Amino acid sequence: MPTEPAPSAKDYPGLDEWRERAVDQQPTWAEHPDFRRVVGELEAVPPLVFAGETDRMRQRLADVAEGKAFFLTGGDCAETFEGATADRISGRVRTLLQMAVVLTYGASMPVVKMGRMAGQFSKPRSSNMETRDGVTLPSFRGEMVNGFDFTEASRVHDPNRMVQGYHTSASTLNLIRAFTTGGFADLRLVHAWNKGFISNPAHARYETMAREIDRAIMFMDACGADFEALKSTEFYAGHEALLLDYERALTRIDSRTHLPYDTSAHFLWIGERTRGLEDAHVDFLSKVRNPIGVKLGPNTQVDDTLRLIDKLDPEREPGRLTFITRMGASKIRENLPGLVQGVRDSGAKVVWVTDPMHGNTISVPSGFKTRRFNDVIDEVRGFFEVHEALGTFPGGIHVEMTGDDVAECLGGSDAVDEAAFADRYETLCDPRLNHMQSLEVAFLVAEFLAR
Ligand code: PEP
Ligand code: MN
Repeated sequence: MPTEPAPSAKDYPGLDEWRERAVDQQPTWAEHPDFRRVVGELEAVPPLVFAGETDRMRQRLADVAEGKAFFLTGGDCAETFEGATADRISGRVRTLLQMAVVLTYGASMPVVKMGRMAGQFSKPRSSNMETRDGVTLPSFRGEMVNGFDFTEASRVHDPNRMVQGYHTSASTLNLIRAFTTGGFADLRLVHAWNKGFISNPAHARYETMAREIDRAIMFMDACGADFEALKSTEFYAGHEALLLDYERALTRIDSRTHLPYDTSAHFLWIGERTRGLEDAHVDFLSKVRNPIGVKLGPNTQVDDTLRLIDKLDPEREPGRLTFITRMGASKIRENLPGLVQGVRDSGAKVVWVTDPMHGNTISVPSGFKTRRFNDVIDEVRGFFEVHEALGTFPGGIHVEMTGDDVAECLGGSDAVDEAAFADRYETLCDPRLNHMQSLEVAFLVAEFLAR
């Protein structure tokens, strides 16, 4: 342990090397009169998470890499400032805890729980500009960059939004911490919530498993399990590390280890669009100690994965690197095996997670972006099949979901149809599973895990 005081991030070698590299998907705000002040402010605020928590999460993910735990991630495609209310946050945390109980039972293993929450405020876009009725304006890039309203004023890239993003993340995280340590996570309570799902006749086929979970909890109780201790649970926060101005400004040198940590979240991932090996995002995240993820789309080559490992996990440290594949239901069985095999043969121990959302996005004639529940499930099934055939571990799932009763994805046993979109389609970006669809995913994945 170093005894000297930790140096400032400004003096840490290599931490700013990304600035010399190609950087994609960034706001055009460097010349904004408030930019320097905002960055200075963010460099001075308290960290949102602590380095020690981040290290603990890396250890939990090392268990996932070894096949001894399962990794669940869920949350909005794009969080909103307005959506950071107690009700919405508790709904999302509650749904994730419900999913986690079912998965814990199915896997007979601990579940590492993470919200795409408290920082998921910026979005990569396929086009810089958006045209509506002959008017062209900059695309919406997440509320930490600009507003969703289609007006010139709202679409301006405003660095002050990073400060609001920081404070909204802080209050969200504060509530998450309260919920997950204050009795809200009590296993018996969470299981009782799941009875609401089962009481819906559409979900009758999951009744057997729900009854088994019931009996397991009664058995634990009878054995004298310490339910007081089980009232708290570890819950982590992660988001796509897209806005490098924000991520860099929140990076601190840990006083214990003298190493850099991005304290905006426990876990950060690099999106499919910004994972260029020589580019800024990969370079920046290679310099921080957090556990990190990389999204891998259907065109990923084995060589890409091996070079990403060399760059992001040169020590081959289990728990450091998670690959989040998002191939699409029709491609996963063909495209995933080569990657998993190549990585396995290289000796690296990464965590494999399936994101069954982003490869299955379609547009319906009414203009809405949606996903079919059956495609989502089919991609998850394909993910399990591939890992089973190779003898590797299907480490986790990453879904876009909410605790609310929205209508954004089609299908599920308590089916959502297109007609419902008119009233209950709320997302500002990609379509999310609603509360019931999320729980159904958990029951189905638990069935795959229990096999
Ligand atoms: C996302 O997770 O919302 C996203 C943009 O994903 P991807 O980078 O996989 O397209
Ligand atoms: Mn998305």
